[in-house]
Amino acid sequence: MPKKRDAKKIVYESEKDMPTMPMSQGSMLWNKTGSWRNIRPEIKLEECIQCGICWKFCPDMSILIENEWPVVDYDFCKGCGICAEECPTKCIVMVEERK
Ligand code: SF4
Ligand code: SF4
Repeated sequence: MPKKRDAKKIVYESEKDMPTMPMSQGSMLWNKTGSWRNIRPEIKLEECIQCGICWKFCPDMSILIENEWPVVDYDFCKGCGICAEECPTKCIVMVEERK
């Protein structure tokens, strides 16, 4: 059986240090992917260092930067958890969706 390759975790200090990568140009306004979600990200702003990494990694552009702070657009966030995984201070927590 092939051995699983050791994954090397890359840690970025800010989104400016990250390579250019393909990004969605915007959420599909006609398909509010937020309805798919069963867990949601909540940002503890008191621990946020305003690095912008969550904004850059969100595959659906569901994190907005408002007055330099990240804000989740729950109409389109589908609860994938990538932002929480990539946040360097772990100040994004995934919690069960409240309907
Ligand atoms: S959970 Fe996924 S879709 Fe929602 S804001 Fe985070 S990265 Fe974007
Ligand atoms: S929530 Fe985390 S990833 Fe997003 S700006 Fe704040 S520290 Fe950076």
